[in-house]
This record gives sequence, C-alpha cells and structure tokens, in this order.
Amino acid sequence: MKLISIIIPAYNEEKNIPLVYDEIKKVFENLKEKYSYEIIFIDDGSKDKSSQAMESLNAKDEKVKYIQFSRNFGKEAATSAGINNAKGDAALLLDADLQHPPKLIPEFLKKWEEGADIVIGVRNKNKSDGIIKKIGSSIFYKIINLISDTQIIPQSTDFRLLDKTVIQEFNKLTEKNRITRGLIDWLGFKRDYIYFNADERSIGEASYSTVKLVKLALSTMIAHSFFPLKFAGYLGIAIVSISCPLGLLIFISKYILKDPWGLSISGSAILATIILFLIGIVLICLGLMALYIASIQSEVINRPLYVARRKKV
Ligand code: UDP
Ligand code: MG
Repeated sequence: MKLISIIIPAYNEEKNIPLVYDEIKKVFENLKEKYSYEIIFIDDGSKDKSSQAMESLNAKDEKVKYIQFSRNFGKEAATSAGINNAKGDAALLLDADLQHPPKLIPEFLKKWEEGADIVIGVRNKNKSDGIIKKIGSSIFYKIINLISDTQIIPQSTDFRLLDKTVIQEFNKLTEKNRITRGLIDWLGFKRDYIYFNADERSIGEASYSTVKLVKLALSTMIAHSFFPLKFAGYLGIAIVSISCPLGLLIFISKYILKDPWGLSISGSAILATIILFLIGIVLICLGLMALYIASIQSEVINRPLYVARRKKV
C-alpha cells in the first residue's frame, strides 16, 4: 500500500475546499486496493471561512490534515509548507479551485509507477486567456529558456507529482525567494508530462493579477539566470568595441594622415567618441562587479552542489 500526499494550497477557497475533497475521495475509491492517501490543505491566510472548511473536513475524516498560515504568505510558501510536511511515497500538488482536475490523478500515478520521478501537468493553451497574457507568457518562456540553465517547458503548471526522493531533495533547498515550480525544474530527475485542459476556475476569483504575474516572471528570471546581472557588462563590451576602433580611426585620419579623405571631423564628434568609450569602460566595470555579486548570490542561496537521483554506496 503506497501513501500519496495530496497538497492543496488554498487562499479564499471556502466553497471549493469541500468540492475538491469530494472529487479526490471519489478518485481514490477506485484506487483503494493499491493506494492510501492523505490530503494536506494549506490555508494561506484566507479572509473567508476556508480554515473552518478544512477543520470540519478534518473532524470527520482523519485523512484530511491542514496547516493554517498566520497571514497570506503566497502560494509558493504554501506549497513548500505542504511538501515539507508530506509523508507519502509521492506527493501531488493540486490547486483548490478544481483547475487541476483530480480525475487525472490515476494518470499521474501511472506515469509515476512507470518510473518517472516527477510528473508535470502541462496545460493545453487556454482559449479564455487574454491576448496580453498569451503574448506575455510566450515571451517569458522564450527569454527564460534562452538565458537560463534550467529548461522550463511552456505552459507547465504546479499540477505535479513528486516522488519521495524528489521531496527529500526539495526539502534541502533553503532559499527564501522561491518559485516552487522553478526549484523542481532545477532539481532535474526523470520527468514525464501529462497534458490537460484547465477549465474555468470553479468558484471565486483568480488571485494572480497581471502585476503579480509580472513580479513572478521577474523573480523567476533572477533566480534562474545571471544574465540580467551581466547585461551591463555585455553592453559595455559592445560599446567599447565600437567606440575604440572609431576613436583610433579618427585619431589616425585627423592627426597622423592629416585628413586624407576630407572627413573634417568636428571637435564635438571627437568628444562624443571619447565619452562613448568611457561609458563603455564604466559599464564593463559594472559587469565585472556583477560577476562578484553573482558569485555571492549563488553562495547565499546555497543550492546543493549536486542532486543524486539514486544512491547505492
Ligand atoms: N493561492 C494561495 N495563496 C495565494 C494565492 C493563491 O495559496 O496567495 C492558491 C489558490 O487558493 C489556488 C492556487 O493557489 O488553490 C492557484 O491560485 P489561482 O487560482 O488564484 O491562480 P491561477 O489559477 O490563476 O494560477
Ligand atoms: Mg486557478
């Protein structure tokens, strides 16, 4: 009998909590020969009666557990809390709003049994998403995969199953500024994918506004790439490599060859070239500084040096 931990972060989901509980219960009715389960609700400082909803489920079913935050710490903290407390042989992250359909759980378990350490739910393109959200997300994935070492699949969601070994490694990560999804991507492991359609959220409102999404995108980029930090340096190199030959050319043609091509370069053009060159030098110095900051950053977030998938030593 394998234990599966279902982790559900919830922020203002009082109506959805009983619904998602019922669905999960139904799904595991058909799996009860092979699997038992626990459901860990994380109340992320909800302002409605979410906490009462999970308490009353816990009172009638011991499989339901809960963690209640003292205030809203965000979904990333909530999922981390769930993963930290999961006791199962595998854990499954699931949204409370039924956008991650529990009826797909058997498929996740199947891929897991077939040997995947991580099973990732990938959303088929959502027709209802606005054009700005669509364009924004496609640009985001292009950029992040260009500048980062961690490959991130477009439309991959938090709807994920993690094997126990992955959970153990995840629990070793200490960085505070985290995107759960990105950290799981960074961990590597053998992964498999399940494609699904996200329905409209069942009840209530999506709490991720455009501003919140942009912030999320920015912090993902910062967490997974040093490119933004080194950008100033690259810019400096580009400027110097243009202005330096230009300056030389001007100097040679004006003062050594005495203007053989009749360019009659003005004083202000010479000044502009010198200033451009100096700005380039300053930017290169900033880029060098950024290299040190990058190395401080990677020491501070203190990721493990390596992650082993299996060990027999
Ligand atoms: N959520 C949370 N804390 C927050 C915001 C959201 O725990 O500060 C939960 C929310 O209850 C839901 C899941 O995270 O279970 C996804 O949130 P939402 O549906 O708002 O996001 P979207 O579907 O737009 O990704
Ligand atoms: Mg949702």
